[in-house]
Amino acid sequence: MGRFFVNNPNNNHIIIDGEEARHLVLVLRKKPGDQVDCFDETGKEYKVRIEKIVDNKVEGIIITQFERNCEPHIQITLFQGVPKGDKMDLIVQKCTELGVFTIVPMITERTIVKWEEKKALQKQMRWQKIAKEAAKQSRRKVIPKIEPIISFNEAIQKKGVQEAFVLWEDEHKKGLKLFLRQSPVKDKMSFFVGPEGGFSEAEVSIAVKAGITPLTLGPRILRTETAGLAALTMILYELDDLGGKDG
Ligand code: SAM
Repeated sequence: MGRFFVNNPNNNHIIIDGEEARHLVLVLRKKPGDQVDCFDETGKEYKVRIEKIVDNKVEGIIITQFERNCEPHIQITLFQGVPKGDKMDLIVQKCTELGVFTIVPMITERTIVKWEEKKALQKQMRWQKIAKEAAKQSRRKVIPKIEPIISFNEAIQKKGVQEAFVLWEDEHKKGLKLFLRQSPVKDKMSFFVGPEGGFSEAEVSIAVKAGITPLTLGPRILRTETAGLAALTMILYELDDLGGKDG
């Protein structure tokens, strides 16, 4: 039946408008008296009875409300070299389901795509919409932020003091498992994934100078859209999320 995102209700009244309302009315054919599940950005969930529908705006009354917190306790930021085609759609959708907190698309030395500002903004808005839909579907209370597309050097600055690693297929010693076991970090972490052509040596050395650790995911070369998902899954599992709890 789906869940509908609402802005903070006032008292026990809910208003659903825009695309969410259109879907409710025109696709699901909901009418006054029907019940729908809603959620807001604070993580509250509501069972709502529709009271009236006027010009595709749905007004309802909260019947029950409860808190569902299915967010990871660690905020993970993925700095992603922008891939060709619509692979970024997949990366945004799957990383949202898995629990990413922020995705920062990066233009690196070897990214193929070159967009002017308007197109870059359109892409960012498209990905933000995908993140919202994926957050709804996976019952998350946080909709991951898809940041504006920036350069690799800007991304290095943006990483700030957060613990971070860069996935590099030419790193053959240190792996993600050891890094996570040794890392004292439990609340925020960032990681960098290169585009189809990978990172240049110069980019990796800039990352190392910025205190970002190169890590291997093993001897097989993963596609850019695989590497981020794999690393995100391993971080969350290692930090007791995604079923990684002992007992
Ligand atoms: N240089 C690669 C090649 O030889 O085909 C291309 C880069 S790979 C398709 C895309 C990105 O995924 C890399 O920049 C890296 O961030 C990550 N990656 C893929 N396989 C990896 C591995 N085994 N270890 C660490 N990172 C990996």
